[in-house]
Amino acid sequence: MPTSGRLNRKQIEAEISGLLHTSWDLVSKRNSEIAELSSKALALAEQINDNNLKGLCILEGALYQCLVKSDYHLSIKMSDEGYAMMKGEFKKRYAPYYHLNVGRNYHFMGDHVSAQHNYLECVKCIESMSEQNQFELKWLAHAYYNLYILFNFSGAEFAQAEYLQKALTIYKQIGDVGGEGNCYNSYAVYYFRLNNYTQAYENLQRAYALAEQEQATSLLSIYSANIGLVKVKMGEVETGFTFFDKAQHYDLELDSPYHHAHTQNQMGEAFIILERYEEAIERFAKALQYFESIGVKRSMSNTYEQMAKAYAGLGNHERAYHYQQAYAQSLKDVFSDEKTFAVAKARNDFELEMRDQEARKLRLKNKQIEQYARQLEMSNDELRQFAHVASHDLREPLRMVSSYVQLLQRSMDIPLTGDQQEFMRYILQGTHTMQNLISDLLALAAISNVRNSELVDLNIIVQQVKSNLQPVIEERNAVIKSTLLPAVIADETHMLQLFLNLISNGIKYNTSTQPLIEISFATSGRYYQFSVADNGIGIPAEYKEKIFLIFQRLHSKEEYSGTGIGLAICKKIVDQAGGTIKVSSRKGGGSIFTFTLPVIEHQPESV
Ligand code: ADP
Repeated sequence: MPTSGRLNRKQIEAEISGLLHTSWDLVSKRNSEIAELSSKALALAEQINDNNLKGLCILEGALYQCLVKSDYHLSIKMSDEGYAMMKGEFKKRYAPYYHLNVGRNYHFMGDHVSAQHNYLECVKCIESMSEQNQFELKWLAHAYYNLYILFNFSGAEFAQAEYLQKALTIYKQIGDVGGEGNCYNSYAVYYFRLNNYTQAYENLQRAYALAEQEQATSLLSIYSANIGLVKVKMGEVETGFTFFDKAQHYDLELDSPYHHAHTQNQMGEAFIILERYEEAIERFAKALQYFESIGVKRSMSNTYEQMAKAYAGLGNHERAYHYQQAYAQSLKDVFSDEKTFAVAKARNDFELEMRDQEARKLRLKNKQIEQYARQLEMSNDELRQFAHVASHDLREPLRMVSSYVQLLQRSMDIPLTGDQQEFMRYILQGTHTMQNLISDLLALAAISNVRNSELVDLNIIVQQVKSNLQPVIEERNAVIKSTLLPAVIADETHMLQLFLNLISNGIKYNTSTQPLIEISFATSGRYYQFSVADNGIGIPAEYKEKIFLIFQRLHSKEEYSGTGIGLAICKKIVDQAGGTIKVSSRKGGGSIFTFTLPVIEHQPESV
């Protein structure tokens, strides 16, 4: 990689975005590399003195302070500082990211009202975007996940399961393995509370496997400690403690106060189950030390309660009462009536606003559809006008050219030389071809116009084709055979065009002394399958699809006359009737054109 000193501004911007993207991918692992990546990116942003990017890099540094260093106050301060440096559209784009990060900090600090406010802002910003990129989806999933945890802890229990489900769906969609694991861990916590340890363990196993796949040490620490506790609950004490050992091992690697505290707390709870209260107290004391050092109120609250249980187990009621009071006080801090009310109200407002947003999006979509319909109508109008112009204004000068050329020919006093006669013939041939092209193009365009749906007896159609083609049939000594055909619901003119084009092609592209056209049909489910087979020159396999395209011809005009529009017309007619058309080779030479048309549905008789 070139050194940044020699990079131009665009390259530096790209490098910053690369560093930040890597960092965003590391979030769920709570990796300390985030610090390195964000400070490297910040140095580059300073080099090009771009305030927006500087702000974003500071925001990234703030994330590190929150997730790895557990310094929530500093993290909020840095987030605000970074956000204030951004302007305009850029600021709008990263508003959800800012809110998510600030929300996380308040969440850890136990300020549920501010946490919720910020998470909901993040969700609103991202849900209102018409399209979301991978990272925005990731932030949305994080916000939903954290909202679930927040509400769940607020005593709403599983009422917020939809948030967890939403998060899990998005994590799976974007392949965020860490996030997916976190969701399974949350399901495990839910089952644990219901004393359903088998289900809890199953979910933890899934979470653990995903974290292992990602080598996400911080998640492995949390899940190992949780598995340890579940296993002890299930009576598998030895296995439980091997998982506690694992967790402690990861904690040493991580050196994060939160993770140390979590493991100690889970071990403490395991000791209570085993009625080893002194060891439990020892663990809880350590956990509290860590939790207090970083001020994670909600976790402290839980540990106080457990500590009270442990002292009660020991028979030390005085200490038990002390911790019970600390527990009650912490609950008050987190869940005063006022705060609980604020949380519930904000949630209701949010739900209403989201429904509003949904309705707005729908209205916008409807408007867009109306606009498309209008545009379509306009372009159809234009096409119709074009067809009109083509039929009249283009044909007229053509007729003039051919009649004046003929007049000129006749008015010449001296007889024309051989060359001159040939030139005249070319002019007349040219105008003739152009006339044919125009009328075939018009026929093709006319198919899109309003068509009739009437009962058409195809036997009569074949008869009409035969009489239309009578001169050619006689000239070429052709034979047209047909089985008894069914009636279909279609436009009569279209059916005539379809059969006429296929039958006349079968005679035209035929060198045998007696061209033979055989028409038959079979019923296949709700469709009739018609075939028009000939003993003609056949069609090379590589052109089997191409020939249905407009102007696609396999021969020169000298070999076979034609405009290359006939089969395009056939395809359009069959498509419009809801069928398909294709061509295949006939054994012993020739081609078979097969097309399907819907069988007439018989109305069920009323009872
Ligand atoms: P046109 O006959 O006016 O050239 P079509 O669209 O009807 O245009 O056919 C396109 C091309 O497909 C023809 O130029 C011809 O090469 C080939 N083709 C059509 N029908 C047959 C057939 N029955 N047998 C062999 N070739 C055919």
